[in-house]
Amino acid sequence: MDGSVWQQKWVIGNWKMNGRLQDNNALVHNLRTLPEMPRVCIGIAPPTVYLLQAFNAVQIVLDNPIRTCAQDVSRFAGKGAYTGEVSAEMLADVGVDIVLIGHSERSLYFNEKNDTQRHKIENVLKAGITPLLCVGESLEEREDGREKEAVAYQLSVLKGLPTKNFVVAYEPVWAIGTGKVATKEQIADMHEFIYREVLLLCGEGVNIRVLYGGSVNEKNAAEIFSVPHVDGALVGGASLKYESFSAIIRAAQEA
Ligand code: PEP
Repeated sequence: MDGSVWQQKWVIGNWKMNGRLQDNNALVHNLRTLPEMPRVCIGIAPPTVYLLQAFNAVQIVLDNPIRTCAQDVSRFAGKGAYTGEVSAEMLADVGVDIVLIGHSERSLYFNEKNDTQRHKIENVLKAGITPLLCVGESLEEREDGREKEAVAYQLSVLKGLPTKNFVVAYEPVWAIGTGKVATKEQIADMHEFIYREVLLLCGEGVNIRVLYGGSVNEKNAAEIFSVPHVDGALVGGASLKYESFSAIIRAAQEA
């Protein structure tokens, strides 16, 4: 990805396990009608089976490049006897630019931990793709005042990676798909902490984007983008409809 993306606000739509050929085409077709948004890096993360469809559909976007993002990747590299797995090289082969790593739903339903995430990030970097690491505390950790400890532990997978580019999504688990949004103060505090941690772990002079995720929608996006150190949003539910997703993209452009 070119250098300008490190100055842009990123708006990435995580479709999760949603979408059908026809609906996906309609959504991308609508996204193509958006006026130019030079301050925004737009991405869509469809289910793996639709990645090639998405990649082909975004190739004819005229005003705004739309990045094809994957929701996950195998911890195994290359090829081999790993039934059901999709490697980073395969994702690169079908035009993927960005891969989500460590979404809390991966830990919750697939028991994914730091060591697995580290393998995935390394594979993705080797394939020339940008990893987007998702971090965030549980409700219990926040109530116990351990939110920074939890996030620092998750961020530790970034130490010593052979890259200068780091993208993190702060997604408090209690805010994902619940309609509950962290307050501006909570977001500002954690985003500042994440910036500091990444600089400590990875050294000065790196490119950093820290996105917020957790019930972002067309009504709250502008306010969230006004918070210091918020470089964009990872959007779940509201990315499935053109009206809400495009309104969030516009809010990023105007922030
Ligand atoms: C997500 O899945 O990363 C997410 C933030 O979901 P939602 O916007 O639906 O809360």
